Amino acid sequence: MAYSEKLRQSYKKDLDEIRAAGLFKEERFIRSPQAANIRVEYPAGAPEQEVINLCANNYLGLSSHPEVVKAAHEGLEARGYGMSSVRFICGTQDIHRELERKLTKFLGTEDTILFPSCMDANAGVFEAILNDQDVIIADRLVHASLVDGIRLCKALQESFKHNDMKHLERKLEEFQDKRIRLIVTDGVFSMDGDVPRLDTMCELAEKYDAMVLVDDSHASGFMGRTGRGTHEMRGVLGKVDIITTTLGKGLGGASGGCVSGRAEIVELCRQRARPYLFSNAIPPVVVAAANKVLDLISASTERRDKLEWNTTYWRKLLTEAGFDIKEGESPIVPVMLYNAKLAQDVARDLYQEGIYVVGFFFPVVPKGAARIRTQLSASHDKAHLDKAIAAFKKVGEKYGILGLKKDQIIAKYGS
Ligand SMILES: *Cc1c(COP(=O)(O)O)cnc(C)c1O
Repeated sequence: MAYSEKLRQSYKKDLDEIRAAGLFKEERFIRSPQAANIRVEYPAGAPEQEVINLCANNYLGLSSHPEVVKAAHEGLEARGYGMSSVRFICGTQDIHRELERKLTKFLGTEDTILFPSCMDANAGVFEAILNDQDVIIADRLVHASLVDGIRLCKALQESFKHNDMKHLERKLEEFQDKRIRLIVTDGVFSMDGDVPRLDTMCELAEKYDAMVLVDDSHASGFMGRTGRGTHEMRGVLGKVDIITTTLGKGLGGASGGCVSGRAEIVELCRQRARPYLFSNAIPPVVVAAANKVLDLISASTERRDKLEWNTTYWRKLLTEAGFDIKEGESPIVPVMLYNAKLAQDVARDLYQEGIYVVGFFFPVVPKGAARIRTQLSASHDKAHLDKAIAAFKKVGEKYGILGLKKDQIIAKYGS
């Protein structure tokens, strides 16, 4: 079929609807490496501005760390640019296997398989190990990539209310007749920054003969005392059967993901997971740098400790300034504004003050729960956060929201 004028108009109408709903996403061009301070061209064509970045997933500040960049250069020299193959044909180098071993050791699991991304890991893992005799019981707020991966397999798809262990237990009871019960959750939920009760979840798994899968993308490298993730934080190291995670956030921020866990499950992914079988191997330059990342975070907790300090300090600053924040234990700190337009206005004004944050609203978060999601990094120094809070206070004053509680903000601006 030709790309007819009729079809073009139809797609244009779809785009207009996205704009009319206020949901059109625009990219901002960053003209510097990823870091605490970045130079941004926004809107497109505007003069470049230096801003403090409070919305990257660069939790450990390793995205542009000199040692990581150096390891990438060395990897490029030693192993070339691309693999020109999937892993099982001729896409596996010694350094790919080395990285899988390091991840296994760091995460405290039995084995690990790399994927081009965590989205791909989640797309591949369910189909590889479940069939139509099984049930998946997932938290209702799991990441979109888990939702998609779950859709791709033949197991029955069930869910439990967000972090509601009683509801999960009822579901586990209900599906005792199934061959396999797999509980699925995020380790840190990306919009609220909350961490589920993995300890209770693992007890329930024991009691009702179920497996547990945790996507620790927003946790690997920094949650828990030595940064292993939410399983360390909740005291269930070795008890989570499957961990999926990304190299694209705390662990260097480039790309790549993995499935780590029970040896047989990892091996089945190697035999059957379609994104592993049919998509190119992670490029050597990324693998070499990721190996360095694992060395750095295995040798010292300095960076995750600094991130923890920054998180505590930033939460305190926001609270003292009178902002309404979501309580939590992760470096994701949502500043609640409830109203979508208010969230966008505040984000825009903060940008003018040199602070790069983004407003989130429906459908990314529920209606009436618009917010600015701030994220801390080990690359932030106290001075960055002091400067950022001054800007937040100035903008908060302008909109008259300092010291207001949820109901008061909604009364003033609507939801
Ligand atoms: C970011 C994220 C992903 C996607 O990771 P990629 O490696 O970028 O594909 C998957 N799951 C969760 C929970 C995430 O936060």
